[in-house]
Amino acid sequence: MIQERQAQEKRVCWSLKLWSIALISIILLSACFIVSCVKKVWGCCPSTWKPFGSRCYLISTEQHFWAKSEEKCAEMGAHLVVINTEAEQNFIIQQLNKTFSYFLGLSDPQGNNNWQWIDHTPFEKNVRFWHQNEPNFSAEQCATIVFWESRGWGWNDVFCDSKRNSICEMKKIYL
Ligand code: CA
Repeated sequence: MIQERQAQEKRVCWSLKLWSIALISIILLSACFIVSCVKKVWGCCPSTWKPFGSRCYLISTEQHFWAKSEEKCAEMGAHLVVINTEAEQNFIIQQLNKTFSYFLGLSDPQGNNNWQWIDHTPFEKNVRFWHQNEPNFSAEQCATIVFWESRGWGWNDVFCDSKRNSICEMKKIYL
């Protein structure tokens, strides 16, 4: 009689343990699911920055040399914009003023037509939107995006120590 009761208690105990494990697993899975959803939905940009995909963009109307423009972006945890797709370029140009030119995170430090993106994105494998006949001058070692009446928006090489507007880019912030 006592043995049977002990066996029964053991069984109850086991099933309780199993249920607990199942319950804890479900809770943990739910927590993971919620966290991953919230992360995806709650990626956000600082108020003055424009969101696109997983990135944030700041259109700066302060005019500086290229190096100073990059420094200003870096101070905010960003870098001068790197354009990776046509969609990104199309989004960016919608934010710009046609009367200004804007520095990109693209330069030719040696002036030998070896253009380099600031985040080390391989230049040759990436999209390129140079204006016709640009880049046209080896002493112009920094790239801008600019609107030309006959051709629309495109890239042009300019002197790095000319003062331009600029575009900063950074990853969205996930809370
Ligand atoms: Ca040029």
